[in-house]
Amino acid sequence: MNYKKDIERLKRELREAKELTIKLEKQLNETKSRQNNLESNCKHQWGETKYDPEEYQEAVYSHLEGHGSDPEPIYNYYPAKKDRWSRVCKICGKKEYTYEKAPTKYEPKF
Ligand SMILES: [Zn+2]
Repeated sequence: MNYKKDIERLKRELREAKELTIKLEKQLNETKSRQNNLESNCKHQWGETKYDPEEYQEAVYSHLEGHGSDPEPIYNYYPAKKDRWSRVCKICGKKEYTYEKAPTKYEPKF
């Protein structure tokens, strides 16, 4: 086993991986900004609004753990859903989300 050679190879591969990561991140950012530009030029035609709840882990306090003046609070996590709606543009495919609701009609009030 030649550890010195192994270390040199590891260093070289790491350097190559880091360079590739930087290059791809740059490419990704450029592509994202190009996509945003194209989407902002689209006169969106929104499809149907769908109820599309967001799933997340809700933290619920359980108890304190440890001793002394600095006990650590322990939480349990449960899957939960938050009301959310989405719509997709029929032309460019942009997907928009909202958590907000607005009144859409008025009804007679007595
Ligand atoms: Zn669009």
